[in-house]
Amino acid sequence: MGKLLVSNLGYPRIGFDRQWKKCLESFWQGSLGQEQFLKDMKDLRIANLQKQKDLGVDLIPVNDFTFYDHVLDMAAMFNVVPKRYQHTTGPVSLATYFAMARGTQENVACEMTKWFNTNYHYIVPEYEQGVELKLTHNKPLEAFLEAKQLLGINGKPVIIGPLSFAKFSKGNYGTLSEYVHKLLPLYIQTLQELSAEGCDWVQMDEPFLVVNITNEDMELLKHAYQEFKTAAPKLKIILQTYFDSLENYEQIIQLPVAGIGLDFVHGYKENLKSLETFKFPEDKILGLGLINGRNIWRCDLMEKYKLIQKIFQFVPAERIWIQPSCSLLTTPVSATGEKKLAPFLRNSIAYSDEKLVELKHLAEACNNGLDSVTEFFNEAAAALKDLEDERRKIKINFSLENLKSIGIERSESFESRFEKQRASLKLPLLPTTTIGSFPQTTQVRSARNKFKRGALSSEEYEKFIKEQIEKWVRIQEEIGIDVLVHGEFERNDMVEYFGEKLVGFAFTSNGWVQSYGSRCVKPPIIYGDVSFKEPMTVKETVYCQSLTSKPVKGILTGPVTILNWSFVRDDVPRNEVSYQIALALRDEVLALEAAGINLVQVDEPAVREGLPLKKIDWSDYLDWAVKSFRLATCKVKPETQIHTHMCYCEFQDIIQSILDLDADVISIETSRSHGEMISAFEKFKYSKGIGLGVYDIHSPRIPSKEEMSDVLTRGLKVVDTKLFWVNPDCGLKTRTEDQTIAALKNMVEAAKEVRERL
Ligand code: GLN
Ligand code: ZN
Repeated sequence: MGKLLVSNLGYPRIGFDRQWKKCLESFWQGSLGQEQFLKDMKDLRIANLQKQKDLGVDLIPVNDFTFYDHVLDMAAMFNVVPKRYQHTTGPVSLATYFAMARGTQENVACEMTKWFNTNYHYIVPEYEQGVELKLTHNKPLEAFLEAKQLLGINGKPVIIGPLSFAKFSKGNYGTLSEYVHKLLPLYIQTLQELSAEGCDWVQMDEPFLVVNITNEDMELLKHAYQEFKTAAPKLKIILQTYFDSLENYEQIIQLPVAGIGLDFVHGYKENLKSLETFKFPEDKILGLGLINGRNIWRCDLMEKYKLIQKIFQFVPAERIWIQPSCSLLTTPVSATGEKKLAPFLRNSIAYSDEKLVELKHLAEACNNGLDSVTEFFNEAAAALKDLEDERRKIKINFSLENLKSIGIERSESFESRFEKQRASLKLPLLPTTTIGSFPQTTQVRSARNKFKRGALSSEEYEKFIKEQIEKWVRIQEEIGIDVLVHGEFERNDMVEYFGEKLVGFAFTSNGWVQSYGSRCVKPPIIYGDVSFKEPMTVKETVYCQSLTSKPVKGILTGPVTILNWSFVRDDVPRNEVSYQIALALRDEVLALEAAGINLVQVDEPAVREGLPLKKIDWSDYLDWAVKSFRLATCKVKPETQIHTHMCYCEFQDIIQSILDLDADVISIETSRSHGEMISAFEKFKYSKGIGLGVYDIHSPRIPSKEEMSDVLTRGLKVVDTKLFWVNPDCGLKTRTEDQTIAALKNMVEAAKEVRERL
């Protein structure tokens, strides 16, 4: 029997110590010159490759590395650069590249949106008529040559396939087919150049193939991949899918490519069924996405081994690559940095490197027999058993059954609550507020770090936090904001902070993953049942309220967001975990209310990203997501105003569920998707309080009063004045104090001006 190989689909770019982030940020701030920036980035890129080589990966991905985002790389490579950046010819400069990613004072950034149902965000390619598509430089080729020359690695360039790239794009490109046809020559040139340099395999990612495939898509795919084959006959393409099961399996496997990559974690059942039903072509490699690339748990190796054995019935070993279920982009780098986790957890986690080690052992078990890996397999099994024992210790008495008796309804309808809230809160029309956080300055972060290290006592730290709250209460009052927030200075992260105070969570020291651009997050681990231990936000919120006569809004992170932004246990269904979190948050909401806080915002920015990729699975998810939110919030008095906040998402198709949350007010992003949201509201009359974010907080650019009053005026055309709120589109933690104050001043001025015109 031939040998089974190990392949990887993409390696985290951020580096073990988040060198990537630091390098980028120093470059943006100007403390790192371009030459040094390029050199540091190269070192990291090479180190990432070397690591995979050392771990024994047979097919190492290249071109997965980027300076910001891999979709943006493709756009820059194909000259999909909007005219406003005034890029003329040749390779896109770093300045233009980062302007597209982040915006500049002169130009807004390109749209950013979530990468399927993950917490990674990509930059949306923005095609403008009249822009000539061409190959500005062949990045996959550069990556391939670099790996070959410096490390002797025969890398497998990762490229987003034409259908998916087209679907990622927006703009006036005509029909999808026209756009794909414009792109094809650029793909062909890329592939031919790769082939000429001796590149053997290319991984073409077509993640949209798990979402749905129309007849037109199918025709385009056939055409595109046939063209590739004709143009570069020696080059082998593996068509890679992930995040769910492949649609149109029977037809897709007939495409003229040399391999098909399938997710056997997230689309396990359906993909397996397809494999059992249709004969897998003899001329193709099967990329078997075996290990969960989106989670941090060590896997049950024996189970995976048996799965491979089962697959052997359909495809022989020499035509199988075992690989993670998707790129390791959303998994931390290496668990070796985890020195503080309890041993039972430390032993049961696997980050990217450990996942590659698991794959290596699975390959060995198949190639050389189980005996060759006994020790490793036994150790993993023992670790998972320990984890189970620990879970038992914090088990709560909860079942989906007792959920029914708890209730998820507010005591009064929105209309009658709304009147009561208006009477008691006494807010002006178009009330102004912010989303919760104020700048996490170096000073704030360093105080927290000192406190964590023990260099600052808890009294000193508390005093510091109080000073920040007071400082920002005064700033907000001075600017003239109507509903104040305390600023979230005590929070390192909106999920970790809550997890630290709830039972069932654990925290890593180095479990960082990229969220967007240089921003990384460190998701907590939910390893067992979740329950409430003590109030989490009452102290700071109440202190803030004591300083002002204006109403203060308490800010919590919602159950679905906590779930979606954590690494969740995989031994119980996700909805169960979500309900457990909701019940714990319900205690917190009631504690705030009891302490005299009349507005409570429960942030749910991650609801949308948790949507299953296939529409058919949506209603089930939305049902438990909505129930979770309501479970957390419904018990308050009618006078208490429940807010929620969501960012970066298309709402059109889930607007009913958003209304079903039954929040009194929702604040959402509208500024960065350039008015698309507003037109959505034209079609759908939103009947509860709503704040359409009036400026993009992700850009350092300061919006003028005029442009914000424009946004407000447009918004007021589609939303009832009485329901209308004015706020930025997200929290302000990533901005500087000066930027924040300047922008908020303009925002309040804009609100005043529009209010006067009413
Ligand atoms: N309340 C949070 C903040 O202001 C919300 C962040 C978010 O939506 N991602 O930072
Ligand atoms: Zn937000």
